[in-house]
Amino acid sequence: MIHVCLQFYTHGFSRGRKNWLPAGRKTLDFLLCIWYYSLMNETLTRTICIKLDVNGHDAALQETQRHFNQAASWIASVCWDERITNTNTAHHRVYGETRSRFGLGSQLACCARAKAVEVVKAARAKEQEHKSHQKPLTCPEFGPRGSVRYDARTYRLLSLDRVSLNTMRGRVICRLILGQRQHDMLIDSMWTIGSADLVWRQGTYYLHITQSTDTPKVRETPETIGVDLGIVNLATDSEGLTFAGAKVHEVRQRYYKRRQELQRVGTRSAKRRLKKLSGREKRFQKDTNHKIAKTLVHKAVVSRKALALEDLTGIRERTTVCRENRYERHCWAFSQLRMYIAYKAAWASVDVRFVDPANTSRTCSECGHCAKANRQTQASFKCQQCGFCCNADLNAAINISQPDVKQPKVSPVCG
Ligand SMILES: [Zn+2]
Repeated sequence: MIHVCLQFYTHGFSRGRKNWLPAGRKTLDFLLCIWYYSLMNETLTRTICIKLDVNGHDAALQETQRHFNQAASWIASVCWDERITNTNTAHHRVYGETRSRFGLGSQLACCARAKAVEVVKAARAKEQEHKSHQKPLTCPEFGPRGSVRYDARTYRLLSLDRVSLNTMRGRVICRLILGQRQHDMLIDSMWTIGSADLVWRQGTYYLHITQSTDTPKVRETPETIGVDLGIVNLATDSEGLTFAGAKVHEVRQRYYKRRQELQRVGTRSAKRRLKKLSGREKRFQKDTNHKIAKTLVHKAVVSRKALALEDLTGIRERTTVCRENRYERHCWAFSQLRMYIAYKAAWASVDVRFVDPANTSRTCSECGHCAKANRQTQASFKCQQCGFCCNADLNAAINISQPDVKQPKVSPVCG
């Protein structure tokens, strides 16, 4: 199962509606996340994030949010203590009490249970990979401003820009502030509309509406483009295309230094700036990863080839990196990049293969000789057996593109 979340940011899609902004906000370019996608088994899911005009219903929504999250936290604690992860068991255990304790309607009580069980399940799954030296996992909790889950029975899209939401004070009607792109996505008949989350962020309500569709069939092809991921070059493909990391390195160093400075200051305003900075850095990272993924998938579509990537599961445990690189290696979201590629490829019917990364950088892509000495520096590769010289990342990418050809030739003991 591959799970992917992509987020796109856009700027100013609802320009001219500045009366909507919380006091003190002059522009809209703070977190306008528009949609993200995920890929689970045979289903593609995407979430459209839409800003809401709550039409004076703030108090009702806030009250619902508070009760809903108190209920969800309580349900989570019950499920956690009694080790319940089954939806039905949880329902029978908590339903009545949720309604009487927190005053939620029957449907909202079910949604609170759904949210809590989902999170508890995820935490229990994490527990399996938990190492003994790590902090013990604790029961998940939700803040009073946490999101409210709405399902088909608790919310309804009325006309295209109106939504009716279930609250503690009955149903309220809010207006969706739609950009053209979001509007087109909502009416797209290829996608089925599912549940929605009411999210509150920095004084503004958003509705995250989920849509799903079947994954298009993958196109079979014998040819593969291999992609090597790294620090100096974020990505290199087996046909010589590289995405240099220099610019990214420079920007990240700037963020890193600024963060250290702010951490030293430690005042409240510094903390606020720190938070803003981290949001900006994340968006920069996502944007860069999106561009790389888009280019690679487009190339695969045009040349009718499959893509091959290293299977980087557990990369942090396996890699040894020098100190100054450690921050980048661990912080650059390579897994995010892989997921973006996987999702975009699935949507474009491009096959993606994940190959074992062992020895891809020290094996000769010409003769298959594997030795540590082959990789002379970070950038250059020279085979000790056949003398083949190549850029080290390109050599690795070629190996990744042909795992079946390469593997039999790899000697069992590698230098
Ligand atoms: Zn060789």
